[in-house]
Amino acid sequence: MTAEIRSRLENFPAALAERQELNAVIADIPPLALAGLDQARRGPLEGRLMAVKDNLNLEGTPTTCASRILAGYISPYTATPVQRLLDAGASIAAKTNLDEFAMGSSTEHSCFGPTRNPHDPELVPGGSSGGSAVAVATGLVDMALGSDTGGSVRQPAAFCGVYGLKPTYGRVSRYGLVAFASSFDQVGVFATTTEDTARVFEVIAGHDPLDSTSAPEPVTTFAYDAERAGQFTVGIAPEYGEGVEPEIQDRLDSLVAFLKGAGLRVKEVSLPHTEYGIAAYYVLTAAEASSNLARFDGVRYGLRQHDRDDLEALYSDTRSAGFGPEVQRRIMLGTYVLSAGYMDKYYTRAQRVRRLIKEDFGHVFGEVDLLLTPTAPTFPFPIGGRVEDPLAMYLGDVFNVPMSLAGVPAMSIPVGSSGNGLPVGLQLSANYFQEETIFQLSRFIEQNYSV
Ligand code: GLN
Repeated sequence: MTAEIRSRLENFPAALAERQELNAVIADIPPLALAGLDQARRGPLEGRLMAVKDNLNLEGTPTTCASRILAGYISPYTATPVQRLLDAGASIAAKTNLDEFAMGSSTEHSCFGPTRNPHDPELVPGGSSGGSAVAVATGLVDMALGSDTGGSVRQPAAFCGVYGLKPTYGRVSRYGLVAFASSFDQVGVFATTTEDTARVFEVIAGHDPLDSTSAPEPVTTFAYDAERAGQFTVGIAPEYGEGVEPEIQDRLDSLVAFLKGAGLRVKEVSLPHTEYGIAAYYVLTAAEASSNLARFDGVRYGLRQHDRDDLEALYSDTRSAGFGPEVQRRIMLGTYVLSAGYMDKYYTRAQRVRRLIKEDFGHVFGEVDLLLTPTAPTFPFPIGGRVEDPLAMYLGDVFNVPMSLAGVPAMSIPVGSSGNGLPVGLQLSANYFQEETIFQLSRFIEQNYSV
């Protein structure tokens, strides 16, 4: 351990205190500054300070998922991606705030209170990995892990002005990530440069025998190749224009003009099933969540309420007291769409839509190397502005959920700020396992495009 990282770890509590009002780090977990201290490991992340979202297990420390239902729970093992960070020499300094069980787009649905946007504390940082996004955006840590089921790394990255990658489904092991919707969940990366994003990705990616959905594809090392990046064909899609704030659309148009000027081909493509994405996503993820969260029953984990004398009451009292309103909403929605009379009408139908959306991407990536879209249609919104209106909250995910339904990789890249100083993020996506293609164009833009 270098003197520099030792001193950063020692100063971590003070650095955290300076950013206290942003509430990025789970309050009742002491900074895990010591997690790296006894490690003499050398590797690509040596000397880097990191944070991980608090739905990833780290042995011997609490994992809360920002839920009362996990009160008192201590992780008995370490998640594969977290272990790989430690093995690569990283020091893990904190676990970060999130929407309860990663359900949300604002980091307001947390039993520890909302995380705030560092660019304006009255605004949300995005979610559900808002704590990780803020920890990186404020320089509290160098990079962080989040999880992205339908935008939870990309959208907070855009709202906070950092890079945020959702890898291909299956690229990163889900072992030790608390499941929300297992056929969507992916661990993702926050960083302040393309290079750092790629380095962390390369450490955590790759096959893991402990996750049966983890992919065997080899992980290539990113080495910037300006000539190759300059020859990409980039797709833009009219379906990703609806309801987009003018200043965000302007930035997209300006980037397109820059890319054309730099000699890249830009081609209009079509993803005709985009408009059904939100409905399909919320049906399928709620269904999977209702099943995954059945294990929190008051018997096996954390909280237990047993004031009444029967088992049924133990379940319902524990779950009513332990889960917040958004999680309860998803469990009820998921139970409903899976119920005998409605399964075909909702769940099976949504699965068909998922297939069509996947085919949309298949066609697009037959024509272009990458797709360029806004990450979110709007700027960060006020804290409290959407919590009472779940539908408005869900609709904000419109440009993120299609890639999650398809399972393709996508990354939000920062492209400057609006007139009033709020960050703008744009999203690059590519075909399965083409994260490296995304890094090439991201680096090309980072190096050459000035706002
Ligand atoms: N905002 C989306 C949701 O609430 C995505 C969450 C996520 O990616 N974890 O489901």
